[in-house]
Amino acid sequence: MSIQLFGLAVSRGVAIGRAVLVAASRVDVAHYFVDDSQVDFEINRLRIARDEVAAELTTLQRDMPADAPGELSALLDVHLLLIHDEALTDATKQWIRGRHYNAEWALSAQLEVLARQFDEMEDEYLRERKADLEQVVERLLRVMARGANASVASHRRDAAGEDPLILVANDVAPADMMQFKRSVFTGFITDVGGKTSHTAIVARSLDIPAVVGAREASRIIRQDDWIVIDGDAGVVIVSPSPILLEEYRFRQRQSELERARLSRLRFTPAVTLDGERIELLANIELPSDAPVALQAGAMGVGLFRSEFLFMNRGGELPGEDEQFEAYKAAVVAMNGMPVTIRTVDIGADKPLERMSINDLRHEHALNPALGLRAIRWSLSEPGMFRQQLRAILRASAFGKVKLLIPMVAHLSEAQLVLDALARAKQQLREAGRAFDDIEVGAMVEVPAAALVLPSLLKLFDFASIGTNDLIQYTLAIDRADEAVAHLYDPWHPAVLQLISGAITQARIAGKQISVCGEMAGDPSFTELLLGMGLRSFSMHPSQLLAIKQRILRTDASRWAGRLGSLLGADDPQTACAAAKRAQVGQQIAT
Ligand code: PEP
Ligand code: MG
Repeated sequence: MSIQLFGLAVSRGVAIGRAVLVAASRVDVAHYFVDDSQVDFEINRLRIARDEVAAELTTLQRDMPADAPGELSALLDVHLLLIHDEALTDATKQWIRGRHYNAEWALSAQLEVLARQFDEMEDEYLRERKADLEQVVERLLRVMARGANASVASHRRDAAGEDPLILVANDVAPADMMQFKRSVFTGFITDVGGKTSHTAIVARSLDIPAVVGAREASRIIRQDDWIVIDGDAGVVIVSPSPILLEEYRFRQRQSELERARLSRLRFTPAVTLDGERIELLANIELPSDAPVALQAGAMGVGLFRSEFLFMNRGGELPGEDEQFEAYKAAVVAMNGMPVTIRTVDIGADKPLERMSINDLRHEHALNPALGLRAIRWSLSEPGMFRQQLRAILRASAFGKVKLLIPMVAHLSEAQLVLDALARAKQQLREAGRAFDDIEVGAMVEVPAAALVLPSLLKLFDFASIGTNDLIQYTLAIDRADEAVAHLYDPWHPAVLQLISGAITQARIAGKQISVCGEMAGDPSFTELLLGMGLRSFSMHPSQLLAIKQRILRTDASRWAGRLGSLLGADDPQTACAAAKRAQVGQQIAT
């Protein structure tokens, strides 16, 4: 019987495939296919890891002090029993043989199957043995990670010919999402998360259909179930009927055709009907995203989220040279086009592994979104901050670099940033390192920044509106919390007024302003933003051509005339409905 689950539509399109359930803590396990010749090798890795863990456990048991509690020995017995249990090892081998999963993936797939069985047990004692199983698997994965080597990776096989796979998890951290840039999944579903959570943002950058906040999905969906993700509607269909499947296959083909049609716009300049030339830029997370940005026809990078270079490193930060190489790679790849590098924006839903006393404070922050986040964190770690500034400055010797500062709210922060930058430049001069003069911009993502933008622009060269946080902080809605996702509304007149005000103020000050939050890549807002006077949009490359198409059909001055009624609406619904009516009118007219 097919079941429908509802969540939040975060990344468009339709994905059809088999479910791969992954526990949140194991999302970062490598997922890749191995070819026929590697199957025995993978099974051997599993066997070696099993023997090693069994030996470890036996030694632990043997060396146990005489006065150790009896439960400890009993616990080790259970672990030894589990490690030799055929339900774990033999079935794991089947995932490797039958599906060509690598050993780690096969093991975590089997863990999910067994964990379900434990969850359904009547007996409480037996049910609680699930934790033991997880610990044993954890040990195995650790041992396998030690032994992983390049020869394994070189035997990766493409997903071609396999059933497409859809990842289902309770949650996926933004840092772990980066794994998927190289993985085999064609879509993903999580129980938790909001539309502009960083997990959702990375999904959009991967351009794979995704639904987050689907609440019970990881409990209801079973390993290997056939799944349809309707990424436009935020719907997940489990075990679809043949008729439904056919309908969604048809829609998949339609959206492929639509993409092919849009790709013809790649070299068309983005100019409105009334002749306004619009700058379309790309948001990237890693330097390796730059070619995708170019492919989509971006005129530069409007937001390089540098914090992704700082994640998944076990607490170790990238040094100046490593950062420099990454920034330089993006700058060189963009071929003379501007690259706007944002200083590290950690905190809230992008935590960093513990590294310093400040992070200890951060971990225990009462409300991380309002705590030591973004520029506040950078300013509290002056050495780290200057290191990043030096790396960014050095990259400017290879192309056009702009510096962007996240979460600015106070003029004093602007001054501290400029002082740190001056110091970093001085250090580079003394070291005889080349760099160019770079523009410095402020992200407008705190209402205070939008309201005092004229003052900030006395010190900053440009501004970029981060609508994701601006909405979060204006409406006091956690952007990553699906429980309040229905109140996270970009159409709220307070949000629209702040954005419009910021654009107007920047234009009066004669400074450049762009939008780099998700609203810039959402076609529902293109005309409105143009009407507000926005002439620079930065978004995921995957959205760029759809936005360009909208721009080509829009008369910006007409929309400027509609602003009064849209911004003055009593509530988000009225503003949204009025904009939709005007969009329909425009479509009919063009
Ligand atoms: C934003 O807040 O809109 C933004 C672009 O920054 P991030 O999504 O990385 O917080
Ligand atoms: Mg932000």
